[in-house]
Amino acid sequence: MKPVIALVGRPNVGKSTLFNRLTGSRDAIVADYPGLTRDRHYGDGKLAGHAFIVIDTGGFEPDCTEGIFKEMARQTRQAVAEADAVVFVVDLRAGLSAQDHDIAKYLRSANKRVVLAANKAEGMINAPQLAEFYELGIGQPVAISSAHGQGIRSLVELALEGVELPDDDDEASGPIGGAARPIRLAVAGRPNAGKSTLINAWLGEERLVAFDLPGTTRDTIHVPFERNGQHFELIDTAGLRRKGKVFEAIEKFSVVKTLQAIADANVVLLVVDATEGVSDQDAHIAGYILEAGRAVVVAINKWDAIDRYQRERLDRSIELRLPFLKFAPILQISATRRQGLGPLWQAITGAWAAAMAKMPTPVLTRLLQEAVQFQQPKRVGSTRPKLRYAHQGGQNPPLVVIHGNAVDQVTDVYKRYLESRIRAHFSLAGTPLRIEFRASH
Ligand code: GDP
Ligand code: GDP
Repeated sequence: MKPVIALVGRPNVGKSTLFNRLTGSRDAIVADYPGLTRDRHYGDGKLAGHAFIVIDTGGFEPDCTEGIFKEMARQTRQAVAEADAVVFVVDLRAGLSAQDHDIAKYLRSANKRVVLAANKAEGMINAPQLAEFYELGIGQPVAISSAHGQGIRSLVELALEGVELPDDDDEASGPIGGAARPIRLAVAGRPNAGKSTLINAWLGEERLVAFDLPGTTRDTIHVPFERNGQHFELIDTAGLRRKGKVFEAIEKFSVVKTLQAIADANVVLLVVDATEGVSDQDAHIAGYILEAGRAVVVAINKWDAIDRYQRERLDRSIELRLPFLKFAPILQISATRRQGLGPLWQAITGAWAAAMAKMPTPVLTRLLQEAVQFQQPKRVGSTRPKLRYAHQGGQNPPLVVIHGNAVDQVTDVYKRYLESRIRAHFSLAGTPLRIEFRASH
């Protein structure tokens, strides 16, 4: 499980800037997918060899009782409760404020690991003003500059000190190869979509052998099982809890849990309620899945319960809210009637196979050359990008590295054209595909 760092602080101290600094590298990848809605409050971070999840809690007002502010305070509390470490951001240039004191008071009572970050410290790393912040009773302030990227690494190292860290990101986008491990499957979706009903239908299937529940770690449920000789491990997602032999839904939807499960999974099954259509929340979850590079299958559940009108509405909501998941298989199922479960399994194992696809260099290179012959990249000024050869740079998700000249001039449209040719050739349904260009010398 990736550890979670929550950024807390009053408005304007630089939380979003810090958030972008911690998660920034992902933006470039995601920008390639048109239509992707992203909640910028949550993101994947990677720094100093650690992978973690960052939450930007927005402006935190501990005493707010009204409407949206109350909701923000509630969300902040939830984020703090679910975080492994809190980074409390203050503004070194502006100095201490009453609000900082309020937040400090709240954080001292929250019983969490808190690290104090004095931001906007460029050119003032040893400034005497730092001493003022001891008053908050949070400990020694760490001087950072989010805007200039100073002190960020030590801040993260300090925040994660003593936090149990996961093994190195094992096979995710890792080297090619890897032994036959169980497929880690996360079932995600809004409360009431039918996740627990589906899982119980699976576990009640004869062809599926569930093993004894191992000890739960950090509130997570991992259930190993086998189906048709394939080993799986079911990862607990937000809103599910095991009670005796069955899973039951719990009310609360936790974005943090969902993100952790997605990060931890090989394949994510997104369960959508057909009677409701694709909601904003579904679209957000889908965005996280894509951002994390996970293989994904969409199950439209409660297919038994919708009429023609609802079907049309559903189709429209899929087109409107999930345009960036075009590569994912979408299946209609009924968990209560146990309909469509066979094809669903095929799609899940298929998505995993696609995520682990092996693409030999000669095949990729030939494919690239054919694609270029069919349609050349656009000329920019007097130069035209020249794409020479391609090799596979990773799996889960597959990464294709294309070498050539003037590759920074390749347009997004052309990149998508190449993506569709590669997808078609290697049957990559269910997995994101990443393409990187490298200038050859
Ligand atoms: P938030 O409201 O806490 O999320 O704060 P923002 O990230 O939106 O930043 C508020 C303002 O502070 C913006 O104008 C930023 O450009 C500025 N800012 C953020 N980090 C730094 C920094 O490290 N140094 C300086 N000088 N300004 C910063
Ligand atoms: P969860 O919160 O995602 O785990 O959702 P549950 O599995 O608890 O299901 C929520 C509600 O939807 C329950 O009342 C289920 O009986 C119902 N439900 C689940 N699957 C189906 C289905 O395929 N068809 C219909 N009609 N109802 C379903």
